[in-house]
Amino acid sequence: MDVITDKAELTELLTEWRRAGDHIALVPTMGNLHAGHTSLIDQARKHAERVVVSVFVNPTQFGPDEDFDEYPRTLDRDTRRLRKVRADVLFVPNVETMYPFGLEQASTVSVPFLADKFCGSHRPGHFDGVTSVVTRLFAIVQPDVAIFGLKDYQQQMVIRRMTEDLHIPIRIVSAPTVREDDGLAMSSRNSYLSEEARATAPEMFKALNRAADEIRQGETDFDKLEGLLMNTLSDKGFQPEYAAIRRASDLSRADSSTAELVILAAAMLGDTRLIDNVLVTR
Ligand code: AMP
Repeated sequence: MDVITDKAELTELLTEWRRAGDHIALVPTMGNLHAGHTSLIDQARKHAERVVVSVFVNPTQFGPDEDFDEYPRTLDRDTRRLRKVRADVLFVPNVETMYPFGLEQASTVSVPFLADKFCGSHRPGHFDGVTSVVTRLFAIVQPDVAIFGLKDYQQQMVIRRMTEDLHIPIRIVSAPTVREDDGLAMSSRNSYLSEEARATAPEMFKALNRAADEIRQGETDFDKLEGLLMNTLSDKGFQPEYAAIRRASDLSRADSSTAELVILAAAMLGDTRLIDNVLVTR
């Protein structure tokens, strides 16, 4: 596996592959890779002969009081892990490569509406940062397909919308959430959790599943269920930001006839922000 920091070098390699008729899949990450990330690489393999993984801790998607500085950077370990799962290339650009005109003068891609609610309203500017960096990665790599985790449900919706709306000829594939044995969704941020918080963290997935069960058993008062979810999270020691039951296809409000739903939640647990979601089919 090649580890490439230089854009021109990457382009040369990609051109060779394309000339040989290979399809290219892109798996964008911020590193500190875990089994959730490697599951995306497994998915990528199903869609393309060549898999490019990027590791870039993108400054524009962090708010001023967020964890950009603390975010775990574990490139050596990530490289070893990617060699084991046989990724074809690891692209590790620096800020100058990704934002050639500097962060202040960087062009921005925004997806209004979809990106304004939920995580977007609690992390102003976050999704603009995500879409702006993903657009750059798409333009540099020009993959046939790009893989995103359902763990970040709203993110993959926003990226799907952006890709479709801007006529970007890349297929977006979403991959299921990989969890620890106790149900906690794997996340690079789980390493921030204290022992006590780590023991509490799986309660979020449990609460989401209980709400999903209620819906399957016929509950249609989603406002009530959202309120219960917020209360449960508070009772368990979280500081919930939102709990929402929405149409899975576009995050709009669901009603009693909606067949495919997603239940989303975000909460602080101590200093760590956790998000999770479950899909419900009725
Ligand atoms: P990140 O490095 O956290 O920016 O995540 C990079 C990609 O991995 C995103 O598409 C995430 O949705 C995905 N991802 C993160 N955690 C998981 C997980 N537990 N299961 C599946 N995909 C994940």
